[in-house]
Amino acid sequence: MRVLVTGGAGYIGSHTVLALLDAGHEVLVVDSFANSKPTVIPRLEELSGQHIPVHAFDLRDADKTERLFADERIDAVIHFAGLKAVGESTEQPLAYYENNLGSTFALLRAMERHDVRTLVFSSSATVYGEDAPVPYVENRDHLSSSNPYGWTKVMQEQILADVAAASPGLQVAILRYFNPVGAHESGQIGEDPQGIPNNLMPYIAQVAVGRRERLSVFGGDYDTPDGTGLRDYIHVVDLAAGHVAALGHLAANPEIAVRAWNLGTGQGTSVLEMVHAFERASGVPIAYEIVGRRAGDLPASYAKTERAETELGWRAERSIDDMCADTWRWQSANPQGFPG
Ligand code: NAD
Ligand code: UDP
Repeated sequence: MRVLVTGGAGYIGSHTVLALLDAGHEVLVVDSFANSKPTVIPRLEELSGQHIPVHAFDLRDADKTERLFADERIDAVIHFAGLKAVGESTEQPLAYYENNLGSTFALLRAMERHDVRTLVFSSSATVYGEDAPVPYVENRDHLSSSNPYGWTKVMQEQILADVAAASPGLQVAILRYFNPVGAHESGQIGEDPQGIPNNLMPYIAQVAVGRRERLSVFGGDYDTPDGTGLRDYIHVVDLAAGHVAALGHLAANPEIAVRAWNLGTGQGTSVLEMVHAFERASGVPIAYEIVGRRAGDLPASYAKTERAETELGWRAERSIDDMCADTWRWQSANPQGFPG
């Protein structure tokens, strides 16, 4: 298939571009570089040995999005583009609603006009809200979130369900990611957050490489085995493979209009377990202190993974130690992230 990857220069998108090419698909990328650097592209080309056409614009520019679909043959779209920082979304809710919903509207219009019928959408475990019991199962009726970023995902899921119901032939796979971490095993691409990392793994990696002094562990008094928060960390290369599996599943099951799958490992790992695993992988002690809880954090979040295993024939294979070793290879070789 010829697959348009929106946000293909970003963290998960870049790894998925490699997985798609590896599986024999053709890829083209659209990215505004709002949260990524163009220097990722030559690395992807070197790793894959293939030329990757890149269109640098904001998807909300409906004319440019339309022109892209008019000019290029596109069989399917994987839609990663969006803003994703939870804290920032509470400070700038309008920017999040505008960007995340606006880009999806422009994309859906262009897909409709050009009869592109396959869409894989990046959703998140955050749509399970604050009250769902863990492990999270896909078949819940009411989705919600505790922050504007999460609400953009809930809303986009609803929009996609409504559009799919009204558009015979349109197929939408909604993939709810748990906590993507790790990097390609080459160490050439990985997560490159701008400014101070919000997420645990890049923060630990930057402490290890000397860019940050110490990790603040948000809360040591949760009702968890060691008192720190539990999350379902998934290796980004496993996550990327889940997208290839979802495309294959839609192609093989044309009756599917819209369906959601969790992409996680099903295992909860605590903050301190992750710190210690990273110390083992890197050989570097990670300075940390336990501080108060972060507003809005849940004690535990992990996936029920059966649906993806049985239907997509996909499961996460890489361990926490792999996630730490691969993150360290990327971070130590690229202490300042991508050049540029
Ligand atoms: P990322 O920021 O690294 O990648 C997103 C890419 O989209 C960036 O390259 C950015 O420049 C681009 N982009 C943003 N808005 C755009 C627009 N309007 N037009 C064109 N390009 C635009 O993020 P990521 O971690 O790779 O996440 C990819 C997707 O997965 C996002 O939708 C995110 O919400 C979702 N997700 C991420 C996580 C996570 O922890 N990383 C978890 C769950 C879901
Ligand atoms: N966390 C932490 N210090 C940090 C960043 C995160 O202790 O600097 C904790 C956070 O409280 C949560 C876990 O690490 O228990 C994962 O946080 P992250 O922000 O990576 O993912 P999310 O909370 O969105 O699942």
